[in-house]
Amino acid sequence: MADIIQLLPDHVANQIAAGEVVQRPASVVKELLENAIDAKATSITLVIKDAGKTLVQVTDNGVGMSVTDARLSFERHATSKIKSAEDLFNLHTKGFRGEALASIAAIAHVELKTKTADSEIGTHLTIEGSKVISQDPAVVPKGTTISVKNLFYNIPARRNFLKSNPVETRHIIDEFHRVALAHPNVAFQMLHNGSDVFNLPSSNSRQRIVNIFGNKTNEKLVPVNEETEILKIEGFVLKPEFGKKSRGEQFFFVNDRFIKSPYLHHAVSSAFEGLMKNDVHPGYFLFLEVDPHSIDINIHPTKTEIKFDDEHSMYAMLRATVKHSLGQFNIAPVLDFERDKGFDTPYEYSKKSPTAPSIEVDRDFNPFKEKPKQGNINFPFKREQSASWESLYIGLNDEKAAVSNLGDIEFESEEVTGSLFENTETESGQLTFQLQNKYIVSPLKNGMMIIHQNLAHQRILYEELLKNITVKEAVSQQLLFPLQLHFSKPDLEIIEKVREQLEHTGFIFSEIKDETIEISGIPVLILESHVVNLLSQLVHDIKEDVPDSGFSQNDMLAKSMAASMAIKTGISLNKEEREHLINQLFACKEPSVSPRNKLIFTTMDVSDLDKKFI
Ligand code: ADP
Ligand code: MG
Repeated sequence: MADIIQLLPDHVANQIAAGEVVQRPASVVKELLENAIDAKATSITLVIKDAGKTLVQVTDNGVGMSVTDARLSFERHATSKIKSAEDLFNLHTKGFRGEALASIAAIAHVELKTKTADSEIGTHLTIEGSKVISQDPAVVPKGTTISVKNLFYNIPARRNFLKSNPVETRHIIDEFHRVALAHPNVAFQMLHNGSDVFNLPSSNSRQRIVNIFGNKTNEKLVPVNEETEILKIEGFVLKPEFGKKSRGEQFFFVNDRFIKSPYLHHAVSSAFEGLMKNDVHPGYFLFLEVDPHSIDINIHPTKTEIKFDDEHSMYAMLRATVKHSLGQFNIAPVLDFERDKGFDTPYEYSKKSPTAPSIEVDRDFNPFKEKPKQGNINFPFKREQSASWESLYIGLNDEKAAVSNLGDIEFESEEVTGSLFENTETESGQLTFQLQNKYIVSPLKNGMMIIHQNLAHQRILYEELLKNITVKEAVSQQLLFPLQLHFSKPDLEIIEKVREQLEHTGFIFSEIKDETIEISGIPVLILESHVVNLLSQLVHDIKEDVPDSGFSQNDMLAKSMAASMAIKTGISLNKEEREHLINQLFACKEPSVSPRNKLIFTTMDVSDLDKKFI
């Protein structure tokens, strides 16, 4: 019998391999994005048309390829990433199989433009169905652009299998999310049919999550952090109440590579046990780092499955770490002024048994009611033998007394009621006074709180504005006579850019043209006379710090407006205004720091005061 075994021609082998690597446009997106990351790009743009069926294009500013490498990169098993089988166990790159480009080129029209940093001129290569059509020198920037057109043009059956555009787009966005989440320091942009889908500046992991999933995500995140000899875990889980019936956001990354692992998923879910209903799934973004020798990623052509040497320890550690983070988050209250009473005794006294000193409080003394007599100014205590010293000491130590003592100090318009050391039963917390028209002082159970009025108000307005901009439900006050404001052309363009967000805060622009804006409605939160300042400040801030992504733009806008609108230092506030400000502040999500990260309030308790008198 004649020999019947033959080697498959390359282009057939490539087509078969393509079936494994490329199932849909999203697979192309994943491979191209990963190659760009491996090429050390710091900025990557993904452009798709018709859910990737017509075009998937990735542009990076990475290392690029030489003329020869450009050609070789489309050969099967052509990779720059491993040289021997041994390297497989030491992987720090995404790719290593050298199949992706060869596979893609077998089933699409591919165009490559690339240039390395040290070559003067780049190269432009076109391939169709594994055949090189042309390769020419080209003037291109450093980096690589690969365009993949008409995917599966030569395999109609596969093309017919593709799902509707929304479904394929969903898959592409999923892949985009995975790569973008794993590399927050890389800037990403995504455009679909000419419009922006994502614009993610280089940031940290938390900001990246928020930039992708929206600013509401920020408050849902519980940080997770653990490092042991064999495993480092970082990232976030979503608070139990934000679990979803559908799968929702579940991301595992191992050594910066997205993976699917039902086993590890189970570990996380079991950490949520008792905190969520059975049919609800937890959300998480977990970044695991392990020794590359201890895993095998080679078991699946699309490299989303992974095998760990020591799966059981992984499971146990992950579960314990997530449980611990959830626990910490549950016990840690936001604000807690309750303290251990033991601390209230000044250190020097804490170990001594009290002995009676020879001074006594002059219980009739009130510095506000009568002018102290000469000689009595600095020392309002009468020296007397055998007095009851304890009463003074106990008084200071008593919570109620401490509160009312502070509360009774009133410098503003209010009438002075009690004596300084009188133990009146006033309602604590409602007593406030203003210091230098700058700080609001409010008694606490055990001391006092000093609040910076301007920063506090900025925080309140910022949260309110951010909510309005994102939820889009602010109320406007109609102006009887529309305001006409003049701005330079470039400034007007800036305002035009944020017009939509401004409208969400309550602005109504009846006309923007030439160098004039006509405003017929303004947010209820501001005065008409402040509008000019506010808009000028906003234009200035945007020029200083040009935010590109949707979220940081909203954030910046809210910060700038809050700063313009907030009650300034020097403004006197009445009792109601002070109380209102405090109540609003503590209804904020983040009452302790201003939108620009300054401390809003500080507290001083009796033991701090006691230390001053030792
Ligand atoms: P792999 O990533 O597994 O090595 P690919 O087929 O994806 O295989 O890519 C083949 C080779 O082409 C890579 O090893 C790399 O040398 C080169 N390459 C691919 N994409 C890029 C890019 N965006 N920038 C620079 N080099 C690239
Ligand atoms: Mg690759």
